[in-house]
Amino acid sequence: MGAKIKALGKTHTEKMPTQQQFDSQEDGNREQKVASRSWTIEDSENLYRIQGWGEPYFSINAAGHVTVSPQGDRGGSLDLYELVAALRQRNIGLPLLIRFSDILADRIERLNAAFARAIARYNYPNVYRGVYPIKCNQHRHIVESLVRYGKPYQFGLEAGSKPELMIALATLEPSSEALLICNGYKDREYIETALLARRLGHQTIVVIEQLEELYVALQISKQLGIEPVLGVRGKLSTKGSGRWGTSTGDRAKFGLTISEMLKVVDELQATGMLHCLQLLHFHIGSQISSISVIKDAIREASQIYVQLTRLGANMCYLDVGGGLGVDYDGSKTNFYASKNYNMQNYANDIVAYVRDACEQGRVNAPILVSESGRAIASHQSVLIFDVLETNDVPSTPPQAVEETEHLVLRNLWETYESINENNYQETYNDAIQFKEEATSLFNFGYLSLKERARAEQLYWACCGKILDIARRQEYVPDDLEDLEKIMASIYYVNLSVFQSAPDSWAIDQLFPIMPIHRLNEEPTQRAILADLTCDSDGKIDQFIDLRDVKSVLELHPLKPLEKPNSDRQKSHEPYYLGMFLVGAYQEIMGNLHNLFGDTNVVHIQMSPKGYQIEYLVKGDTITEVLSYVQYKAEDLLENIRRRTEQALQENRITLKESQLLLNDYERSLSRYTYLVGE
Ligand SMILES: *Cc1c(COP(=O)(O)O)cnc(C)c1O
Repeated sequence: MGAKIKALGKTHTEKMPTQQQFDSQEDGNREQKVASRSWTIEDSENLYRIQGWGEPYFSINAAGHVTVSPQGDRGGSLDLYELVAALRQRNIGLPLLIRFSDILADRIERLNAAFARAIARYNYPNVYRGVYPIKCNQHRHIVESLVRYGKPYQFGLEAGSKPELMIALATLEPSSEALLICNGYKDREYIETALLARRLGHQTIVVIEQLEELYVALQISKQLGIEPVLGVRGKLSTKGSGRWGTSTGDRAKFGLTISEMLKVVDELQATGMLHCLQLLHFHIGSQISSISVIKDAIREASQIYVQLTRLGANMCYLDVGGGLGVDYDGSKTNFYASKNYNMQNYANDIVAYVRDACEQGRVNAPILVSESGRAIASHQSVLIFDVLETNDVPSTPPQAVEETEHLVLRNLWETYESINENNYQETYNDAIQFKEEATSLFNFGYLSLKERARAEQLYWACCGKILDIARRQEYVPDDLEDLEKIMASIYYVNLSVFQSAPDSWAIDQLFPIMPIHRLNEEPTQRAILADLTCDSDGKIDQFIDLRDVKSVLELHPLKPLEKPNSDRQKSHEPYYLGMFLVGAYQEIMGNLHNLFGDTNVVHIQMSPKGYQIEYLVKGDTITEVLSYVQYKAEDLLENIRRRTEQALQENRITLKESQLLLNDYERSLSRYTYLVGE
């Protein structure tokens, strides 16, 4: 186990599948061997792993379209492809982020239900009261919806900064039981606002992350005459195993050591305020993929909680932070893009460990708080984008090379002819060598342009033939691993990775990506995605897979339009891809690479007649993104006008041309920053 699997396109280390998954892997292999039968929807399900990451919200219908069931198995579903088509008819362009409000509601319900079940199962003598960390997705519609859907559960909010506190205060109902956890670096104003908010009836809890914050809080509390409810953020020493065990970083960066916590207790005792300390908080990082890390952290935190109570603090909340993972690749493993536990396991472990520790320590069991962001917000959002164009490696079969042609061409031809299962690795090296030879022969004037083109064509033909063989092998030699990438088609997509999926670019976060239609056809192309930005990082070449990651994504060839549309270059039918689970952390970075702005957003809510558009938020216009970088549209336009006038005077442009230029320019300023669709 843990050995690197050398199958084509797989670059990382092996995940640790369960026995059940081994069985299904074998199924997968068997599947591949039967290549000739026709492609089914089940094949697409397996290929894109939609059940693994999409259940219960996403599946494929008989028409080969992705469907969305925003309320899981309890509600209706809609055809995502048809939804996109309908939205396009309303002139809403791509790329388009679709948020399903009912999914958000469902996630909150599920999380609360999981804790309710765990509490019942273990006879836990207290309640669960979760909060949503605003930083995970701060958009107003989301935070407002969350508070609305969370109301039956007294679901609260977590603020990690002053602006987030402002949002929370404006959104939460002041008189509710919902908690308002105040984390992050805090200045006077932050703490003052948090304390004053108690006057409005908000349940603010100020979590002390650094000793100085305690002194400020005590001072302000005295000045205002308002008693704070305080928490401490513990710096746990729990060292987990697996990828996140060593790389969360968070664990070391924030929080109080045990001796600092004791100082807090002493200080509060000295000022007669120890009863104000009521909460213990920890956060070991996001996307914890291994349940054992969570168990270790809970075990340690429960003991600290018991000890703080023993020291006389009026403890009543244990806040386990975030970290509840999302299974982006559907592998149910401790791989970084997955998690080897479900929400119920998570709730069970927390409830059981805390109960045991409190029973043993003979202290009252706390109200359990969690700050799950990713697990609540990810599923609701789907990013839809279209393919503009593709660039395939030339694949025409080569013509036989004549005896009279150049030796290097004859060598390449012979190599091509001789490729078979036993020598494909050698012949690959030969092909590379002959191609390099052809290039240098050309550079020294011994080959004509035509001959060089012929050499390249033969080279690509060799690669294609070798790749066909390599794909059928279980194990592939190292030097062939890149072949899949070299031979991949490039699909140019109407998207900016930096704007719409910054984590995909910044931290190699994997998101499931798949076509949302044509899923009853075999996807015969293997592709990487290149976005619209001219940045070479603006590409996606890592995709989810059961084992590890794959470097190419299976996609369909574009279908030529039956009647090409003369006034637009578009020569193919629309081909739509969806990037799923992007509702957490992706929407908020506001990264304006190449000045692609916010995309259009629609909120879809299920209604008795199907669905309705709850909100439409128009994406940025060019004028707007330009204003972010301090350009004024009217100045720009005036500048162009002056230059055109000058050119007119000098007869470099006709009056008609100048008008066209200015009209175009002016019109562009009010346009969506992405390419305008059909
Ligand atoms: C980021 C963060 C969270 C949310 O973590 P998720 O893994 O998204 O659930 C919760 N609490 C704190 C203190 C955080 O910094």
